[in-house]
Amino acid sequence: MSQLYRLLPSVDAAIKELETVPGLAAAPRPMLRDAVNEFLDLCRAAIAEGRLAGAASLASEILMPRLHAYAGQRLRPHFRRVINATGVVVHTNLGRSLLAPAAAEAALVASLHYSNLEFDLDKGERGSRYSHVEELLCRLTGAEAALVVNNNAAAVLLTLETLAKGREVIVSRGQLVEIGGSFRIPEVMAKSGAILREVGATNRTHVRDYAGAIGPETAALMRVHTSNYRIIGFTKEVTLPEMALLGREHELPVIEDLGSGNFVDFTALGLGYEPTVQQVVAEGADVVTFSGDKVLGGPQAGIIVGRKELLERIKKNPLNRALRIDKMTLAALEATLRIYADPERARREIPTLAMILAEPKELTAKARRLAARIRKQAGDAFTVRLKPGASRVGGGAFPERDLPTTLVALTPTGRDVTPETLRAALLAADPPLIGRIEDGAFCLDPRTVFPGEFAQAAEVLAQAATPATTETF
Ligand SMILES: *Cc1c(COP(=O)(O)O)cnc(C)c1O
Repeated sequence: MSQLYRLLPSVDAAIKELETVPGLAAAPRPMLRDAVNEFLDLCRAAIAEGRLAGAASLASEILMPRLHAYAGQRLRPHFRRVINATGVVVHTNLGRSLLAPAAAEAALVASLHYSNLEFDLDKGERGSRYSHVEELLCRLTGAEAALVVNNNAAAVLLTLETLAKGREVIVSRGQLVEIGGSFRIPEVMAKSGAILREVGATNRTHVRDYAGAIGPETAALMRVHTSNYRIIGFTKEVTLPEMALLGREHELPVIEDLGSGNFVDFTALGLGYEPTVQQVVAEGADVVTFSGDKVLGGPQAGIIVGRKELLERIKKNPLNRALRIDKMTLAALEATLRIYADPERARREIPTLAMILAEPKELTAKARRLAARIRKQAGDAFTVRLKPGASRVGGGAFPERDLPTTLVALTPTGRDVTPETLRAALLAADPPLIGRIEDGAFCLDPRTVFPGEFAQAAEVLAQAATPATTETF
């Protein structure tokens, strides 16, 4: 047995070996050394337990591929790109929106160079971080003033803390939303120090409910967009114009949390009704908050637009400093908003919009090309079929709306491969490929897969369908 130990490579020899592997050459040296030590420990344990019995199993042709596989897994960055074949466009777990190339470029420049982030180049003195996007936001939404923070949760918190701390905010029971990642209106309200005053019933709330709750303690009326659910049947919601009227009568601001804000009128495009930000501003909301990275298709940000005098107070809130947006995000946001100044261009260049608005026949053609690629690279491993299916907008927008698509449905032919084992193998692949299982087949939705990813997708599918023997021991 002790002879077997001597057959193991030295740490230095193993490191040298790994440095010839293209993906690992750039790994930090101390991490490379740790991975090698861990691998050799596993080898020694396997020898001690008799799992590595003969000298043949320690031959370099056997051991080195295992070392490569082990080190590859241990040393790759934790944050990795994935191929999103789920068809959910704004997939919060997979990074929500992808930036338009111009926005990504702007973020890169902001990160590599000094900038006028908070410097007024006309006056040669300290400037405002928000000046870069305020004018654009006002132009796009018709609002008097604008501010951006880290995300929409922060926007809601900051707005409530500024306008209603220690006082009451009236919200309909039908709008006490919880969205993923533990954002709940009652809890954010509590954190802001504002007191939630619920009115109405889950399915029906009337103007008289709001009016009856208004008192000396009232600071604001609030509406929350029921992003990820719909109340249907016997329902009544107070409209924004009705609420704005009530607010004006009592000199109370109306706050609207739009969730996934958008500038594009999707009704006209046949997708169903979602209010646009400009519409909500026009109908009399005093402060509107929405996300930058949901349907808007920009970077993670919380956007606040509304009446100048209220926004001035929000800007001056010291909490704002803790929630502020970073320079890369701000640069990407300005670039995204500039694209929106030309709506035609926005539909083409903003990936989120382009994916949501992709035509069914374009998706069928894409599915055919993806299927052909998979047949070519992994044809033996799968029965490949096309079938009609449904994609989702995601991010809480259009919750009840299916977007028609064509799925590439894969049935593994290998005896030991099931859709479930395939799914697991694809999560461990490089890059991971994420799809969904439907009717016993592993399905890929071409809506969220880019043509430039087809070859890679086919390749990881081919590998995942023929389980390799690279388990360490
Ligand atoms: C998504 C959403 C939020 C939170 O927005 P983030 O940008 O994720 O912080 C708040 N309110 C509503 C109604 C939402 O849909």
